Amino acid sequence: MTEAEDLASVTEENAVPEENVPEENAAPEENAAPQENAAPEENAAPEENAAPEENAPEENADGEKPKKPGLIKRIKASGFFGPGTSAVFILFGLSVLVYILSRFISAFAEFWTRYPAQGIRFLLAKATGWIPFSLAEAVLLCVPFAAVGYIVCSAVSTRRDGSTKNYNRWLRPVVCLILAVGITFFMGFGPAYNRTTLAENLGLESVPVSGQELYDTASAVVEELEPILGDIVFDPDGASVMPYGYDELVEKVNAAYEKYAAGADYVSHFYSRPKPIALSEPMTYTHIAGVYTFMTGESNINTNYPDFLNPYTMAHEMSHQRGIAREDEANFAAFLVCRESDDVYVRYCAYANLLNYLTASLRSADKELYNDFIRGRMPSQVQGEFVAYSRFFDKYRESVASKVTGAVNDTYLKSQNQKAGSKSYGLVVDLAVAYYKNACSK
Ligand SMILES: [Zn+2]
Repeated sequence: MTEAEDLASVTEENAVPEENVPEENAAPEENAAPQENAAPEENAAPEENAAPEENAPEENADGEKPKKPGLIKRIKASGFFGPGTSAVFILFGLSVLVYILSRFISAFAEFWTRYPAQGIRFLLAKATGWIPFSLAEAVLLCVPFAAVGYIVCSAVSTRRDGSTKNYNRWLRPVVCLILAVGITFFMGFGPAYNRTTLAENLGLESVPVSGQELYDTASAVVEELEPILGDIVFDPDGASVMPYGYDELVEKVNAAYEKYAAGADYVSHFYSRPKPIALSEPMTYTHIAGVYTFMTGESNINTNYPDFLNPYTMAHEMSHQRGIAREDEANFAAFLVCRESDDVYVRYCAYANLLNYLTASLRSADKELYNDFIRGRMPSQVQGEFVAYSRFFDKYRESVASKVTGAVNDTYLKSQNQKAGSKSYGLVVDLAVAYYKNACSK
């Protein structure tokens, strides 16, 4: 997911920039499991599986205690496992194996992410792509009602018929649903956290960066940005205005992604329509600007954020959808994609978003250099954009929801071997510095 940063970082009075990055990256646990995973009713246990314990005599004719049936027999007798349920369990076991292998062997993770997992993500994206709204959002909103309804119905049913068979009939779909979520993660998305790094795939040397390097990189970005600034329209508050609607943006970012992927062997493009989130405004309190939901294969965009964030967020979520899982890498891929665009506004967004990260990092690394940059190098239009964003963000800045989602996201990222957790978004500056240094040396 993508976390919206506080662009207030460019204003001198705002001290801490990293925390303000927008968190479009929704925690994956929230992603509702696909409905097709409900266990089929026909998996009911065969008749001979009636529980034997109840009918068993205490002792046989010879006065010996009867032997307890073996584990397999008892599992069969429970009526829990039919062919469908067994298939889900086997698939889940295989998916865990794939994930474990990917944690220990990055070459395997790279292969799996590029090919089999790409197929899974593609199929999921196509399966839900025709739905005009975010399926993940709809399911998430329905989950509390569905859960209460299911609990009530199952309680009534099992009170009427307390047999093991009936109990399992209600339990089985829930277990299968949970396992199905696990399967889509372990096979479709999880291994991507362990693939070869983007820096390696781009042939970059990744080393800690100095304040001067941040300054130089930000200056190089400004040099590329300045010639197109005259083509960008800004409103009286200072915010840039996207000169077309959401659907046109989807086409432009897809076109840019196709162009970018054509020159990169580590990512493949397929057409997809990122979904606007219906409850974008209230969602802004979580600081989430977008989220890729791996179980539905959808990229979801919070459209309440100012225009200049939308193209970048879209490209970020589409990067997750195409197997770039790490947050700093999805951020840098979003920059590269948007920079490839034929559309001047999408290109502007690439530079403006990267400048936000670079200046925030520069301010932490070297306050004096940061002030020099803001006074001498930062284009006034971009500074105005960041000030306008800061004003927009004031309303959402201090929210309980953002603290909760921030903590969940941080824990999730750390569980996926991303040691910097939520701070990994900002590590995009290391990639940017290495990229521009590499470009200069050529
Ligand atoms: Zn993300």
